[in-house]
Amino acid sequence: MNKVEENYLNDGYKKYVGSDLDIFYSIKKCEHAGVCARGNAEVFNPKRRPWILPDNGEANQVMKVIDACPSGALGYIKKEDSEKVTFLKGGNRFYLENDEGQLIAEITFTTPNPAIFIIDHTFVDPSLRGKGIAQSLVKEVVTKARAEDRKILPLCPFAKLEFERKEEYADVWKR
Ligand code: SF4
Repeated sequence: MNKVEENYLNDGYKKYVGSDLDIFYSIKKCEHAGVCARGNAEVFNPKRRPWILPDNGEANQVMKVIDACPSGALGYIKKEDSEKVTFLKGGNRFYLENDEGQLIAEITFTTPNPAIFIIDHTFVDPSLRGKGIAQSLVKEVVTKARAEDRKILPLCPFAKLEFERKEEYADVWKR
């Protein structure tokens, strides 16, 4: 944990993990002015739980919205490229292994025909939970589907939830 994050957490901010950006929020400081929701309703939606989904927007635009928060209730830490997770690829899956070669995160999909991926399984070891790994795994498959001009049928319940949460995935969602 870096110093900035430590300060946010010590100040009572709650952390919302994203792949490019972690967002911090203090309900104590919030003036409920709604600047954030007006700036990006996909990322900041007070009627949803969690109400902040950092990966629902483009990082630079989201940072501008956060900078406009009048109360200082919002903050962020942008992840450096070196902090981003690089998944292994093999067969029809993206995955991570620990130093002992044990599987610690994985998403698998099948290709029943050239036009479609079916995501059938997502797994993240409890030691990695809360780091946005599962969201990043789904994002990998979305990126691959776009590159190969395919649609995705998210059978895995977690992947399905991601598609329901993220409008930006609508172009590849096979409903
Ligand atoms: S912009 Fe800041 S002060 Fe306004 S509702 Fe959002 S978090 Fe609260």
